[in-house]
Amino acid sequence: EEVIQQIAAGEVIQRPVNAIKELLDNALDAGSSQINIAVKEGGKKMLSVQDNGHGIEREDLPLLCKRHATSKLRSFEDLDNLSTLGFRGEALASISTVAHLTVITKAAAAVAGLKICYKNTVLEPPGPLPCAAQNGTTFIVDDLFYSNEQRRKALGSAAEEYARILDLLGRYAISRPDVGFSCKKQGERRPDLHTVAGTSAQDIIRVVYGASIAQSLLPIELEEPGDKTITASADTSFSFTASGFVSCTHYSGRKGIFIIRINGHIVQCRALEHSLEAAYFSYARNKPFIYLDVKLPGDQVDVNVHPTKHEVVFLHQEEILSCISDAVECLLQGPIR
Ligand code: ADP
Ligand code: MG
Repeated sequence: EEVIQQIAAGEVIQRPVNAIKELLDNALDAGSSQINIAVKEGGKKMLSVQDNGHGIEREDLPLLCKRHATSKLRSFEDLDNLSTLGFRGEALASISTVAHLTVITKAAAAVAGLKICYKNTVLEPPGPLPCAAQNGTTFIVDDLFYSNEQRRKALGSAAEEYARILDLLGRYAISRPDVGFSCKKQGERRPDLHTVAGTSAQDIIRVVYGASIAQSLLPIELEEPGDKTITASADTSFSFTASGFVSCTHYSGRKGIFIIRINGHIVQCRALEHSLEAAYFSYARNKPFIYLDVKLPGDQVDVNVHPTKHEVVFLHQEEILSCISDAVECLLQGPIR
């Protein structure tokens, strides 16, 4: 049983950044406006995610890390119009299976905070102990893969794992300008990434990707159907909105930067990246920076929110991709003509 759990957990959590993503999603689902991350050795030794969200009630603590324990899904139909990032109740179960998990939480109404440790999904004795805490929740993940040397060996260097975390956090920061994010190495004063809640997306792009990209951003605003300049077909059976930015500087990185958010989820969509890259290439022989926030009815997209396989498939894949890449191409040609 334990072995099966370990294997299943290993699918969800393969490296520190996977745990960070799950904890970030949970923090956002809890309505946080400030999220702070700290890591030791790129998250391999320790990672912590502190939020100022609604906290966890004492009576919910015993089952917090039980597999399929979620407070977010009430019926199967909810799946199509889910407003939360998580719903499987798998993340904390997985994390507590492959690492030492400590939770410090305080709901606004509670007088004091509570501190709890979990091992293999169960609460460790003596159970919740009172402690000083601010409103919100902190998750501390120690010694990832402590019982699995093979998994540990498969990880990159501390610097590599940390770079992955910073990359992910930058994406979250840009897509959630209403939330402040920070990330630092434990023990250091200066955060390596720091955004302030309420800053414009453009300013966050400046902080994360530098001034030259931030200065040359063209806003993308696309609505389909309804946009007269880009009509796909008269009887469109699909609808979506896309907003964001494309940089028109000659960003010289080796790879383009694509930040794609679909129905609130930061995802990977290689097909969309490829068609955007092609659109950009026809304008400049260079690599793009593109941030795109796409919204469409839940039944027209399969946002596979599995933490390690976030490849997205659209129902009207071709139409949507060409709509978006045409719009981006138009936009880029605009300033020249
Ligand atoms: P899911 O997000 O799919 O529901 P998780 O395993 O990620 O499953 O989390 C289990 C439950 O723990 C959540 O449904 C939520 O009720 C609670 N929880 C997790 N993280 C937080 C947090 N940062 N603040 C408040 N509640 C949380
Ligand atoms: Mg979750």
